[in-house]
Amino acid sequence: MNLLIGIRIMKHCKLYLNYAGFCQAKASHAVKGDPHKDIRFRALFGLIEHPNLGWILFDTGYAKRFYDATKSFPNKIYALITKVTIVENDEIKKQLIDAEISPNDIKHIIISHFHADHIAGLKDFKNAQFYCSKLAWTQVVNIPAFWGFAKGILKSLIPDTFLQRVLFIEDVSKEIDDEIFGKVYDIFSDDSILAFNVPGHAAGQIGVKLQTNKQTYLLVADACWDIRAITDLAFPHPIVRLFFDSWKDFKQSIFKLKKYHKKYPNHIIVPTHCHRTTEKLVSKKLNIDEL
Ligand SMILES: [Zn+2]
Repeated sequence: MNLLIGIRIMKHCKLYLNYAGFCQAKASHAVKGDPHKDIRFRALFGLIEHPNLGWILFDTGYAKRFYDATKSFPNKIYALITKVTIVENDEIKKQLIDAEISPNDIKHIIISHFHADHIAGLKDFKNAQFYCSKLAWTQVVNIPAFWGFAKGILKSLIPDTFLQRVLFIEDVSKEIDDEIFGKVYDIFSDDSILAFNVPGHAAGQIGVKLQTNKQTYLLVADACWDIRAITDLAFPHPIVRLFFDSWKDFKQSIFKLKKYHKKYPNHIIVPTHCHRTTEKLVSKKLNIDEL
């Protein structure tokens, strides 16, 4: 019997969302037909408080080490195109310390995919176990360091101890059949955080579903850049296909999310860079009870 993740009763977590830096992009690239003007692609992260496992992160946003990683060619091309802004106060590490949470108390980090705006903070968390899909990691391994920038991957951002600390969701999770996503991964085998595949923008990209006391959230990373891709099938400009792993997979992921949204319209789908969605959810002061 399929246990649909949409109606599943889950163990409740607490969630806080905020940004760690941003880059510049063209509105007309994010959604074809939007004005040809610069917009900020803010790098959202999720801080989750699990009732038994403590602090968990979903992605990390940018960190200042992005500048070191891109100071010489060819990686510099990445920096020149994206025009990243990250200052110390906006780094996730600093935000946690300001809220009296030690970075050493972050024990689990779920990585949606390995683009720099999602993983630049990994090195700040020495005690964290990492979780990602096998395919996402395989792509990192297989791409030569020199060409990584062309796929948004800067290998120097990945901790040296990564391989000893990573758990692949396919290996550790309880798998659940699902009508829409096919298969979902109960990462901690306790119905608290369910991961699902949303490939296309990047190989092996995953999103997560969690429930708080107030709401159900799907953090979908870069499955789309703008929520209108899901609600109105308003797709990005075709030029971005150059940077996507698979346009076909991207569209399939969107169709699945659209189906999910139609069936569960009250669940909040959060694309990392969609300011229409995220502006309502972030708050400058860390408040784990708000969402
Ligand atoms: Zn990305």
